Amino acid sequence: MEDFSQNEGYIWYDGELVNWKDTKIHVLTHGLHYASSVFEGERCYDGRIFREIEHTKRLHHSANVLGFEIPYSIEEICEIRKIVLKANNISNGYIRPVAWRGSEMMGISAQKNTIHLAVAAWEWPSYYSPEARLKGIKLQLAKWRRPSPETAPISTKAAGLYMICTLAKHEAEKNGCEDALMLDYRGYIAETTSANIFLVINNEIHTPKPDCFLNGITRQEVIKIANEKDIKVIERYIDLEELANADEVFVTGTAAEITPVSEIGDYKFKPDTICKLMIEEYNKATGQT
Ligand code: PMP
Repeated sequence: MEDFSQNEGYIWYDGELVNWKDTKIHVLTHGLHYASSVFEGERCYDGRIFREIEHTKRLHHSANVLGFEIPYSIEEICEIRKIVLKANNISNGYIRPVAWRGSEMMGISAQKNTIHLAVAAWEWPSYYSPEARLKGIKLQLAKWRRPSPETAPISTKAAGLYMICTLAKHEAEKNGCEDALMLDYRGYIAETTSANIFLVINNEIHTPKPDCFLNGITRQEVIKIANEKDIKVIERYIDLEELANADEVFVTGTAAEITPVSEIGDYKFKPDTICKLMIEEYNKATGQT
C-alpha cells in the first residue's frame, strides 16, 4: 500500500531540507487537534509553477484569516518551492505547502504557538488524455453542505473545512462515484469536495457565486478564457433542479484541472464542445503541450 510518509526525497521543513521520512510533528500539535492548519495545492508544468504568486498569496491569506502569520514572505516561499522541486528533481508535479500552529499552548487558545511551514512536492503528471477526460466523472449529491460565511472561514484553504469534504467523498466513492456535489447552506449548488463547478446552458456558462466557498484559481482562469473566447459567463445562485437544463457540466481545480462530468444523481450530461475547448485552452494556459 502506498504511504506518503515513506517516499524517498526531501521536504522543506521550518528552514531546511529534511529527509522525507524524518519530517515529524509532535502529537500535541495544535494544528492536529484544533485544525489550526492551512495549506495549498499547486501544480508545476515543465518546471513552471502555475499561478505561483496567487497560490502563495492565498496561503498567507488563509493563515491571516485563522489569526496567524506565516514567518516567510511571498518571495521566500517562491524560493523554497524552487529548492524543493530541484532537490526532488520534479518538473511535472504537485506542490503542497502547509502551515500550522505548534505545541506551546495546548487548548483552544494558541496565541503563543510557533508557526511551522513545510513544503512537499511529488511527481504528478496530468494523466488523462483529452479524450479520456471527455468520458466525464460521476458525482453523488452530498448530504453535507458548504457552511455560511458566518459559520466558517470560507475564503481559505483551512484544514478544518475539509472534514465534511472527506465525509462526502467517502460516501460518494462507496457508491461508485468519483466525487460529491455539495450544496451550500441555502440549498444552492456550491462545488465538489475540491473543485468548482460550471454548467453549460444554451452555449452560455453558468457558475455559482463564490460567496460561501473557495473562488478557485482555476475557476478564475476558466472565466478569463471564456471571456477571451466571447462565451458569456453568468455567476449566480443555481438550484439543483437546473441541472436538468445543462448540456455540459465540468469541474475545475488545480488537481482536477478541467474535468467534465457525465452524471450527477439522475441528471446526465454529454461533455462536448465547451468542455473540449476549455480543456484545450487550459492546457495552453498551463503550458502543457
Ligand atoms: N474548492 C475546494 C474546496 C478546493 O479544495 C479547491 C482546490 N484548491 C478548489 C475549490 C479549486 O481551487 P483551485 O482552482 O484554486 O485549485
